Amino acid sequence: MNTAEIRELNDKHVINTYGARKLALVRGQGAKLWDADGREYLDMFAGIAVANLGHCHPKVTEAIQRQAETLVHVSNLYYIEPQVELARILCEHSFADRWFFCNGGAEANEAAMKLARRYWAQKGTPKPGLVTAQQSFHGRTMATVTATGQPKYHDGFGPMLPGVSYVPYNDPDALEQAITPEIGAVLLEPVQGEGGVRVPDDGYFRQVRDLCKAKGVLLILDEVQTGLGRTGRLFAHEYDGIVPDIMTLAKGLGNGVPIGAMGCTEEVASGFSVGSHACTFGGNPLSSAAAVATLTELVKPELMAHVASVSARFFDKLNQLAAKYDTIAEVRGRGLMIGIEMKDAVAPVVGKLLDAGIICGPAGPNVLRFVPPLIITADDVDTVIGKLDGVLGGE
Ligand SMILES: *Cc1c(COP(=O)(O)O)cnc(C)c1O
Repeated sequence: MNTAEIRELNDKHVINTYGARKLALVRGQGAKLWDADGREYLDMFAGIAVANLGHCHPKVTEAIQRQAETLVHVSNLYYIEPQVELARILCEHSFADRWFFCNGGAEANEAAMKLARRYWAQKGTPKPGLVTAQQSFHGRTMATVTATGQPKYHDGFGPMLPGVSYVPYNDPDALEQAITPEIGAVLLEPVQGEGGVRVPDDGYFRQVRDLCKAKGVLLILDEVQTGLGRTGRLFAHEYDGIVPDIMTLAKGLGNGVPIGAMGCTEEVASGFSVGSHACTFGGNPLSSAAAVATLTELVKPELMAHVASVSARFFDKLNQLAAKYDTIAEVRGRGLMIGIEMKDAVAPVVGKLLDAGIICGPAGPNVLRFVPPLIITADDVDTVIGKLDGVLGGE
């Protein structure tokens, strides 16, 4: 099918939650994508921070192919070899002692919220309340959309889950006030993604960690977007020199194969017992095999060194553009999670970059977001900067 034919079928048969799109992408390789009409693009979005190793990475493709020929699904009624291997690797490279697997970010956060509640209930001190941040994003299920501190996502879906309160991000005093005796957990993104690529001040998470400890509440970090090398470390909280009690992962974990995970300490894991939570597809052989292959690449120090060097070049050149164009209010982010706040709406800029062969996206109305595959080259950065310069300069 060509793009027009795909669009026609979509408009006729798919529920319209995503609106009109310009492209039907049908093939990818590394940081390159091709549409149904054969046009090539440079991908600076990676399917919303998912294809961290680039599209169709040979090691991941091979693992998927091999596993597809061996066993795709059996359910968690049986032990799953690729899943236990995945859990072992995740334990080796993080604070977490134990993992639960599911299909994506919302499910991982849902599991974290349930675990926090049950942990305190099991202790005989139930405190079901949760504090999250304004402008946060944690998913679209009823519980996670409640946790998401953006009213636009709540519209028409009320009533929200009771017991959730929201504080300004990057404000330890507000958090301290919000942790009342009914609060059992605090859920935060190490860098806010969908809310506009917001990086907190140095020391914020140190204070958050201390507060949670002092007040006896669990700290849940949503690393769904920031994790898996996106910020230049395997997990973004490594920058803060802290560890949470619970961490959630998804987006980059299977390099595009749907999988989510929730990790926690041994102590917190005791909140769940046999039968208290489950997921039919969670950590199935196919998705786990993809994640094992993905993680095996992501934990290589060379890759994180590459992210650091390409990121430094990217920020350097973006800051030069910011000095040249008044329309850029701020350049921010960490590693290859980059936001450019503009003084006007970014939708036209996203559209013009697309016309110039660059795929990127927004993070809210005024922030242009680049979350490319981590394997992009210095040349790719220069290409994007050249095109952005052209678009902002009115070429
Ligand atoms: C994308 C995202 C989610 C939701 O993940 P889904 O897989 O779409 O459910 C949750 N938290 C953060 C920080 C995200 O970026």
